[in-house]
Amino acid sequence: REGAEARPFQAEVSRMMDIIIHSLYSNKDIFLRELVSNAADALDKIRFLSLTDKSQLGEGDTAKLEMLLSVDPEQKMISLRDRGVGMTRADLVSNLGTIAKSGTAAFLEQMQKGGDLNLIGQFGVGFYSVYLVADYVEVVTKHNDDVQLIWESKADGSFAISEDREGAPLGRGTQINIYLKDSCQEYLQEDKLKELVQRYSEFINFPIYMLTHSTVDKEVPFEGEEGAAPEELSDEEKSAKGDVEVADEEDEEGEAAKAPKTRTVTEQVAEWKALNDNQALWLRPPGDVSDEEYAKFYKALSKNEWDTPLAHSHFKAEGDVEFKAVMFVPGQATPDLYDNYYARKPSIKLYVRRVFISESFEDLLPKWLSFLVGLVDSDTMPLNVSREMLQLHEGLKVIRKKLVRKAIDMIKKLADGQDRALKELEEKDAAKAAAAEGEEAGAEKAAGEEEERKKLEEKSKAYTKFWTGFGKSLKMGLIEDQGNRRRLLPLLRFHSSKSPDKQISLAQYVEGMKEGQKHIYYLVGTSKEEVAGSPFVESLVEQGYEVLFMTDPLDEYVMQNVQEFEDKEFANVSKEDLKMGDKDEVEKKAQKKAKEEFKGLAKWWKESLGSAVENVKVSKRLATTPCVVVSSKYGWSATMEKIARAQTL
Ligand code: ADP
Ligand code: MG
Repeated sequence: REGAEARPFQAEVSRMMDIIIHSLYSNKDIFLRELVSNAADALDKIRFLSLTDKSQLGEGDTAKLEMLLSVDPEQKMISLRDRGVGMTRADLVSNLGTIAKSGTAAFLEQMQKGGDLNLIGQFGVGFYSVYLVADYVEVVTKHNDDVQLIWESKADGSFAISEDREGAPLGRGTQINIYLKDSCQEYLQEDKLKELVQRYSEFINFPIYMLTHSTVDKEVPFEGEEGAAPEELSDEEKSAKGDVEVADEEDEEGEAAKAPKTRTVTEQVAEWKALNDNQALWLRPPGDVSDEEYAKFYKALSKNEWDTPLAHSHFKAEGDVEFKAVMFVPGQATPDLYDNYYARKPSIKLYVRRVFISESFEDLLPKWLSFLVGLVDSDTMPLNVSREMLQLHEGLKVIRKKLVRKAIDMIKKLADGQDRALKELEEKDAAKAAAAEGEEAGAEKAAGEEEERKKLEEKSKAYTKFWTGFGKSLKMGLIEDQGNRRRLLPLLRFHSSKSPDKQISLAQYVEGMKEGQKHIYYLVGTSKEEVAGSPFVESLVEQGYEVLFMTDPLDEYVMQNVQEFEDKEFANVSKEDLKMGDKDEVEKKAQKKAKEEFKGLAKWWKESLGSAVENVKVSKRLATTPCVVVSSKYGWSATMEKIARAQTL
C-alpha cells in the first residue's frame, strides 16, 4: 500500500508467525473462533466504556453491537467486521506487532514440545492463527480517538500501518480481511463458514450476521416495466439485492392457453442472516440445560475444545446480593497450574446485568480456587462505575464467600458420587455373580446395563482424577482459608500403610481405627516407598495401627495447620513423644528398666555427638531397627527442614 512504511515484527512474534503460516496443522478452522472471540472482546470493551460515557457508542448502525461476516469469492477473501472499540495506531503497533506478549514465548515453547496449536487462544496470541489460512491479512480499524487505519502483513517478518483514506468508513470497529491461501479455498463456502461460526460461537453474546446468498423464484407482473419490485429494505447495509433474471423457457406449459399475467424470475438474494441466537446460558434455569450444553459452554469459556469438565455448578443467589453463576472443574489441570501459584488469576469472568466487566476479577475467588473456570453475572452491583470502584464494592465479598461454598459443595459432590458409584458397582458385581448361577439375563437388558455401567465406572474414577489434578489446590485451601478448613478436611486423600495403592479419606481412616485408638497417625516423607519402609512405621504397623503416608511437599504445611479430624488428634509418628494406645503397665516397667540399663550408653552418645543432637533417649518405638534420629516435639521435622531449606514455596 502506498505511503505505508514496513516495520519489522518483534523477533519472537515473527518466529511464531513463521511457524503458523507454514504449519501443517490440520485443524485450521480454529482461526475463525479466535477472530470472533477478539471481535466479541472489542464489543465488550466499547459496551463497558459506554457505561460511563454514553457518547462513546455513537449513533445509527455504529451503535449496534454486532459482527458481520462476508465472503468475496473474486478476491478469495473473507471479512469479519465488528462494531467494537477499534484500535488506535498505538494499539495496532503494540497489539499486533512490535511487542511480544508474555504468551508468545510460552506458546513457542509449547509448539516446540509438540503442543496443540488449538490452545493458541490461551496464550494470548490467538490473532496470529489467521495465518493458518491466509497469506495476506488486512486489519482495517477505526477507534473513537483516531483516524481509520489499515494494518497489513504477509507474515514475511514485517507489517505496515497507514491511514485508510479510500476505504468505506467503518464508523467504529474493526474489519479483518483474510486473503485465503490457495490450499484454504474451502472457507469461501458460506455453508462452511456458517457451520464454523455455529460450532465455535454459540455462546458469543453478540449477534453474528453473515451475508448469505440464495436464489428465489418469484412471480412478478408480466407488464411490470421495472421487473421485480425491490423488497423493502429496513437496513440498507444489511440487504443487498442481486441481479434479476428472466426465467428460462421452463414456463412454456402455461403459454398455450392465454398470455400469462405473471412471469417467474429467479432472483439472487443476499441477506444478512443471524448465525447465533446469543442467548446467555447462565440465565436459563439449571434444570433446562443439558450436560452436553454445559460441556460445550465450558469449552467456549476455557478456550479448550479438547477438555470435558469433571463437574459443574450452576446456581442463582438471592437476597441483598443477587447473582447467577456457573463454575466448572476442568477435566484436566493445565500443565503450568502450580508453576506460578501466587501470580495466577482465577478464570472467573464477571458480568453485571449481562454486561461483560472483566476476564478475571481478582477478588471473586481465592487463589486456591484459581483452577476453576466460570462466570458470575451480578444483578445488584452498580454498572456505571469504574472497575476500581467495583473492586471495592461490598457485594463482592458476599459473592466470593458464596462461590467458595458452592465450589466446595461441587467438589464434595464429586467425591460422594465416586463413593456411591464404587458401592453400586460392587453390588452389581455381587448380583451378577449370584445371577450367573441362576438364569441368563436378557440380551436387550444387557445393552442398557452396559451403558449404565460405563457411566458408573466413569463416576467411580471422577474424584480420583480430580484429586490427582487439583489435590494441591485443596491443600493450599486448607493452609490459606481457615474458615473452610473443616469443610476441606474430608476431601483430602492419602495412601496409608493399610492401603498403599488406593488413596483413602480421613473418614475411612477413622472408620478403620483400632479400639481405644485416639490418634490419627501419619508420617511425612518424599516417597511412598520411603515412608512405607520407615522404621517409625514398623512398630505401629506391627501393633495393627494404620499410618497415613504424606509424600507431597505440601503435606507438611497442611499438617501444621490442622490439629484434628472428628475429635481425633493427628500424630506425626516421627515426633518425640508419640502416644500410642493405652500403655501396658508391664510394658511401662520394662521400659523403665531398659532406660536404667542404657543410661550410660545414652550419655556417651550425647557426649560424643555434642550439639548435633538435642538429646539421646531410650525408646520403645522401634521393633527391629536399632536406632533412629527423630525431631523434637516442638522442632521442625526432617522433611520440613528440607522444604524450608529448598524454599519450594
Ligand atoms: P488476546 O485476544 O488473547 O489478547 P489476540 O492475539 O487474539 O490475543 O489479540 C491481540 C490483541 O489485539 C487483543 O488483545 C486486542 O487488543 C487486539 N485486537 C485483536 N482483534 C481485535 C479487534 N477485532 N478489535 C479490537 N482489538 C483487537
Ligand atoms: Mg484473542
